[in-house]
Formats: sequence, structure tokens, C-alpha cells
Amino acid sequence: MVSKKPRIVIIGAGMAGLTAANKLYTATCSKELFELLVVEGGTRIGGRINTSEFCGQGLDAYWRLTKDEKLAVNGVGNWSGKSLEEAIFAMHENTQRTYTSAGDLRTLDYDAESEYKMFPGEEITIAKGYLSVIESLASVLPSGLIQLGRKVVKIEWQPETKNTEINNIGLPVKLHFCDGSTMYADHVIVTVSLGVLKQGIRQDSGMFSPPLPSFKTKAISRLGYGVVDKLFLQLSTSNDDQEINDCKTKFPFLQMIFHQSDSNLRHPKIPWWIRRTAFLSPIYSNSRVLLSWFAGKEALHLESLNDEEILNGVSTTVSNLLSHNLCNSAGIPQPKFAKVLRTKWGTDPLFLGIV
Ligand SMILES: Cc1cc2nc3c(=O)[nH]c(=O)nc-3n(C[C@H](O)[C@H](O)[C@H](O)COP(=O)(O)OP(=O)(O)OC[C@H]3O[C@@H](n4cnc5c(N)ncnc54)[C@H](O)[C@@H]3O)c2cc1C
Repeated sequence: MVSKKPRIVIIGAGMAGLTAANKLYTATCSKELFELLVVEGGTRIGGRINTSEFCGQGLDAYWRLTKDEKLAVNGVGNWSGKSLEEAIFAMHENTQRTYTSAGDLRTLDYDAESEYKMFPGEEITIAKGYLSVIESLASVLPSGLIQLGRKVVKIEWQPETKNTEINNIGLPVKLHFCDGSTMYADHVIVTVSLGVLKQGIRQDSGMFSPPLPSFKTKAISRLGYGVVDKLFLQLSTSNDDQEINDCKTKFPFLQMIFHQSDSNLRHPKIPWWIRRTAFLSPIYSNSRVLLSWFAGKEALHLESLNDEEILNGVSTTVSNLLSHNLCNSAGIPQPKFAKVLRTKWGTDPLFLGIV
């Protein structure tokens, strides 16, 4: 009797799942040793790495480019020394919130943060977007090895199955998919996000059967996990706004800080969800696409708004803050926004947060 090759199923086609698949598939004699499959709940590969087209621009490629640009500082309103100090602190706090994805910096474990090391050398951007790294990893895998639209809702592990052959197939892991179908495996590599794991260990979830051992559930519970979202906006190119196109003053790197105590009184129309946003700026010099980052509850709120509400909120903010410096000398109208694209990492059930 010919024994069947063991089957390994990787859950998730993000960076972790595809790296595992790439390593396993390219290992010596892998095709003779085991059968490999990747099941992905979404309709694309890449997970939290994604490159989108927006107004003809690849959108993850430029996210740090603005850092070396010349900074113009303009204030609106009166600032006392103390309120300025507070505001500059708040500005740094808001920037750190997006870097760490902690809605509240007091929830961070600073001992763990101090272990964080940046890779040495220059930061680089990848011309075709980060998705090209993902595509390169996946390119060695034969078609059909990655199955999209296969969301796993339950991982059932019966370690004794192999001996007792309870099921027809005799494999110890049974995967249940959201469409009711099932698949058997000898081994499963779970690469879903920490947010999905946190939901999966809840008593009402039933994702793991039997439940994961307590040292794993405790680790999953203890680890912090937050939300950060990117908002991209396209500046309008309608004829009415042609003057803005020609205007010498392009949309600036707008670093936003608000008075702490009385900020609502000073600009009551600026919505609360934009007040802890550190900046709004073109993705590179003179680009008509602007980028802004949101963290914590502001990010979750952004996810719940429709495009019109976002456009109104941003337009109000920009007209309050830029009325004194953008194209003002020519009396040209404020910039208008045509299109919105934002991420929804916090509420997307395949991620439930970012890091
Ligand atoms: C805006 C942003 C900026 C970032 N910046 C940086 C940075 O500068 N440096 C850095 O190191 N990292 C950064 N990260 C984090 C980095 O992108 C992630 O850590 C990494 O992509 C995670 O890969 P992963 O494979 O572990 O998880 P994921 O990418 O989340 O992949 C998991 C996959 O599992 C799938 N899945 C989930 N549930 C199921 C299910 N039930 N059944 C089947 N499939 C399922 C998901 O659809 C997903 O494709 C950033 C992330 C974001 C969003």
C-alpha cells in the first residue's frame, strides 16, 4: 500500500503565510515529501501589505518621501508659550500614535518598545509598491496552490485520529470554511493577524477546537494591538480650480496641532476625529494626492464615515487652517477634494486591527 504524502495547509496569504509557503515549496525534495496548500479568506494575496492604484498613482510607494522636504511653519490664532509647548507635545504624541498604532500611548509597554530596532541604512521605497515583494514570493508557487476566498471559521484538531481513523481520511486536522465546506490536513500553519487570533480565542468564537492551551491564549491576550488607517485624498482638477493648479503655492506639508484645552471653541467646525491627526500632505512634491494617518478611536470613526462626510470634514479643516497662506495673495479659492480612499484595517474581519 502506498502511503499518502502528508498535507500541510497554511492559513493566510500575507507576508508570513507566503514566506512559509515559499520556503517549504522551494525546500529540497519538498514535492516528494509533502503536499502544500495555502487557504486565504480574502480575494487577494498580501494581507496587510497592499498597493492600490488611486488617480494613476501606486499608493504605498511614497509614504515617507515628504520627510526631507522644506517645512514652512504657519500658525493660525494666538499661541501663548505654554499652549505652544503643549501643542508641540501633542503633535509628537499624535505622530507616535500612528507609528506605534497605540490609540493611547500610556497603554504601550515601554520595555518592549525599547527592544524595537530599526534596520540600519537608508529607508527605501519600492518603485512598484510593496506588493511586488509579495508577488515575487508567490511567483514560485504553482497555480492552484493558493486558494482565495477560503475563510476558515474553525480549526478542529483530533490528535488521536491518525491512530483510530475516526474520519474517513485519517488526518488529524479538519478545517471548516465559511461556505460550509471542509478540508483535512496533517499540519496547519496559522498566520492570521493578532486581531483575528484575539477574536478566535473568545469563548463564543469556537475557532479552535479544542481551545488553545492557556499559555498561548494568555500570550495572545496580553499582546497589545491597535488600529492605524491611511486616508488618501485627490485634489480636484476641475476647471474652476485651474487657478489652484497654476498657483505658485502648492498644497503644503500641513502639520496640524490644536490648542489642547479650548480647541473646540476656536474652530468649532473642525471635526473631533481630525484633531489628533498629525499631518495632511502631498505624497510627494506637487502631487495632487494627499495623505493623512489616523490612529485609535479616530481611525475607527474614519472607517465608519461615508466619503462625503470625510470630504466635508477635511475641507472644513483645510479652509480653517489654510485661509491665510494658500494662494491667498491672488484671492484664489481654497482647494477642493475630488476623491477619497481610506483603509479599513480595524473593522475588516480578516484583520481587526494592524499592529
Ligand atoms: C499602514 C501599515 C503600515 C505598516 N508599516 C510597517 C512598517 O513600516 N514596518 C513593518 O515592519 N511593518 C509594517 N506594517 C505591518 C506589516 O504590514 C505586517 O506586520 C505584515 O504585513 C503582517 O503580515 P502577516 O502575514 O503576519 O499578516 P497579514 O498580512 O494580516 O496576513 C494574514 C492573512 O490571513 C488572512 N486571514 C485572516 N483570517 C483568515 C481566516 N479566518 N481564514 C483564512 N484567511 C484568513 C488575511 O486575509 C490575510 O491575508 C504596516 C502595516 C500597515 C497596515
